[in-house]
Amino acid sequence: MDDAIDYQHAWRQYKRRGRLWLALFVLYVPVVVGSALLTLKYWHTPNPAFVLAILWMSYTLYLGARINLWRCPRCGQCFAGTCWYNKGIFAKQCVNCGLLKYSNEQVSSLPSTPTADAVDQESAS
Ligand SMILES: [Zn+2]
Repeated sequence: MDDAIDYQHAWRQYKRRGRLWLALFVLYVPVVVGSALLTLKYWHTPNPAFVLAILWMSYTLYLGARINLWRCPRCGQCFAGTCWYNKGIFAKQCVNCGLLKYSNEQVSSLPSTPTADAVDQESAS
């Protein structure tokens, strides 16, 4: 019986939103400038391009905020930060529960150093 909880559906959503945000960011200037040139040529006004630019920026900001406020699939709290700081897309693990980004596992703890009792038991035997 496999008790492992699968968070991959949530991580796929996170990746999809991240890729969409990156595409919106990269394509902003070419699309807006291209639409401005087209509307100037055919309609003799840049106003539709201004509207497109405002909508594009608004959605990019909204999507960026959603990514930065992404809820951890395990603990349900903000994955990348708390009230006073946010690591954004650079968070490698949940700041609340330690779930590694894109995984189902918690960050493994450092190899434990032998305790004094364990050292005593090994030396006694
Ligand atoms: Zn968490």
